[in-house]
Amino acid sequence: MKKLMRGLRQFQDNYVPEHKKLMATLAKGQSPNALFITCSDSRVQPELITQAELGELFVIRNAGNIVPPFGATNGGEGATIEYALKSLNVDHIIVCGHSSCGAMKGLLQIGNLEAKMPLVYNWLIHTEATRQLVEDNYGDLEKADKLDMLVGENVLTQIENLRTYPAVRSMLHRGNLSLHGWIYNINDGSILAYDAERHAFVPPFSDPSKAPNLEHSQPGSHMPGEHRLARGQSERIFKGSY
Ligand SMILES: [Zn+2]
Repeated sequence: MKKLMRGLRQFQDNYVPEHKKLMATLAKGQSPNALFITCSDSRVQPELITQAELGELFVIRNAGNIVPPFGATNGGEGATIEYALKSLNVDHIIVCGHSSCGAMKGLLQIGNLEAKMPLVYNWLIHTEATRQLVEDNYGDLEKADKLDMLVGENVLTQIENLRTYPAVRSMLHRGNLSLHGWIYNINDGSILAYDAERHAFVPPFSDPSKAPNLEHSQPGSHMPGEHRLARGQSERIFKGSY
């Protein structure tokens, strides 16, 4: 706790005076560039990995970067998504999973969680589609590879879940919204972005305007099953062998 208190003081002594103008502008309102949905994991920091400044990212964090399907729960995720789109006019949503995700490890052994951590169990049920897809199609993978596969598939499941929200669907229909699926590698800080055309997580392009975007795919290509990773994809995720 002492370290946090020291941090508070340093922030107030250094950062605040250096960013007075920005803070005064932001005090009048926010206009973030993107809604960033990621895991609560302490090793993933959206502002750090994107080098975003105050006011640039609207963020949802929870265990496993899960977006419950519309109507599945009255949690804060839906309200936050709706607010971001309708009030803040955010036009990019990034779902960012990460390597070695504890929530995905839990999903691998969800049967053990029901009695031990009932709240975690109830939460992970929202991404049961991910677990079942990986178990049914990649059940023979080694545990570490299966975890990588779960991380990737989980990101894609949440993208599908996002599409169940009326505000998302409506904006996608008008072409006013881009959805992005990312995986952050906590080992080396690298990011892979899902490219629907290549059906793979690939390094983002250096030209941000050409960044992989799920909406570049043909109509209907987001139907369940079509975004799935090719067998062997898990060997490419995090290992850089493209
Ligand atoms: Zn995680």
